[in-house]
Amino acid sequence: MSAPIILVGGGLATGTAVRELRTQGYDGELVVIAGERHAPYERPPLSKGYLLGNDPAEKALVNEESWYAAHDVDLRTGVTVDAVDPDRRTLTAGGEELAWSGLLLATGAMPRRLALADDSGAPVHYLRTLDDSTALKEQLKPGARIGIIGGGWIGLEVASAAQQAGAEVVVLEALEQPLLNVVGPQVGALFAQLHREKGVDVRTGVRIEEITHGSDGTTIRSADGDTLAVDRLVVGVGVAPVADLAADAGIAVDNGVLVDAGLHTSAPGVLAAGDVANVDHPVLGHRLRVEHWDTAIKHGKVAATNLLGGGAVADHLPYFFTDQYALGLEYVGHPGPDGFDRVVITGDTEGPVEGRVFRVWWMRGNRVVAGMHVNDWDAIDRVRELVGTEADDAALRS
Ligand SMILES: Cc1cc2nc3c(=O)[nH]c(=O)nc-3n(C[C@H](O)[C@H](O)[C@H](O)COP(=O)(O)OP(=O)(O)OC[C@H]3O[C@@H](n4cnc5c(N)ncnc54)[C@H](O)[C@@H]3O)c2cc1C
Repeated sequence: MSAPIILVGGGLATGTAVRELRTQGYDGELVVIAGERHAPYERPPLSKGYLLGNDPAEKALVNEESWYAAHDVDLRTGVTVDAVDPDRRTLTAGGEELAWSGLLLATGAMPRRLALADDSGAPVHYLRTLDDSTALKEQLKPGARIGIIGGGWIGLEVASAAQQAGAEVVVLEALEQPLLNVVGPQVGALFAQLHREKGVDVRTGVRIEEITHGSDGTTIRSADGDTLAVDRLVVGVGVAPVADLAADAGIAVDNGVLVDAGLHTSAPGVLAAGDVANVDHPVLGHRLRVEHWDTAIKHGKVAATNLLGGGAVADHLPYFFTDQYALGLEYVGHPGPDGFDRVVITGDTEGPVEGRVFRVWWMRGNRVVAGMHVNDWDAIDRVRELVGTEADDAALRS
């Protein structure tokens, strides 16, 4: 009997891959080793429905708890894989050595820490795990003063949840606009406006110099002399891939685990998927590592196929979504290393941002490198159609 296929992780990539292996008819031994105390779950609800108190934690599970036993999967939660030996095809986890015939590393990403906040003694929240979200949810109360450091997707989604819980919310962003590096200044300004219209104090271009904590709360002092008193800090300044397990095993790593389009790492039999995988993207023509829900699903399926000896490729265009207040959007594409040189916005330009229906096109010359709709739920097919093509303004408006 051959050794089991082992999947390492506890997120959406793992949960999708294990289900897909059984769906594709693999009836050999399957082991899932998940570092957290939970069965594999997806994270978008942690800053949306679950954090808002609208959805239970179970809704985030990729497969119901009972699915694993019903499908003869050995699910080990709260267990960390400490080392992988690609030559001997073994790993050690929880003091036990296990042999594998195929191995998936879907170890995800972890928040970057902000020493200035951590060292201050202030109550600081990061948001990556279900437990993080539960702890934060308890603090989002009417009148609580919540200071959010970082105006990226996580910071803004937390701002939305905190504002809806009745908290007093301040977002401190170092750059000139929230999301500047992702969407550019024009669209970043729209997100600042969205949150300001909801009563969130969005401060941009802020250089935090000092954070102090005492009996009267936490004080943030910025380089321009401004001070801000808060009860709680939330830090959302990006994530880093969890690639040390692979690196220690001698697997090639550079901003995540390096994989080919079939998600194979430099070690035979070892694949990587999801946030940790830095893929040689066959369509975009450059390496790509993203932190997207949709990629974790697509990678999970490709990885399962290829763990069974198939030839699937991860060639999908990046896609992500966000919900803030009543605003929802979907984004497709990737500007790549060359970026974009102009942005075209079609649709509503007046009224509160939350209620506007519009599309945004990021262009390099006449080429659409990325597209997004805001509150325009029938538009996603059109967005997908145009991304990667040459389009004039008439086509963008059609
Ligand atoms: C709060 C939040 C909101 C999000 N919202 C959106 C959204 O709206 N839209 C969107 O497109 N994307 C969103 N994302 C991103 C999306 O959730 C991620 O892209 C996705 O979770 C990646 O899944 P993954 O399986 O690759 O990794 P992860 O979900 O990070 O899972 C990795 C797991 O591996 C475990 N692990 C790590 N090392 C080991 C080890 N050595 N042994 C055992 N286990 C280990 C970790 O504990 C972790 O549980 C959000 C992310 C967060 C945190």
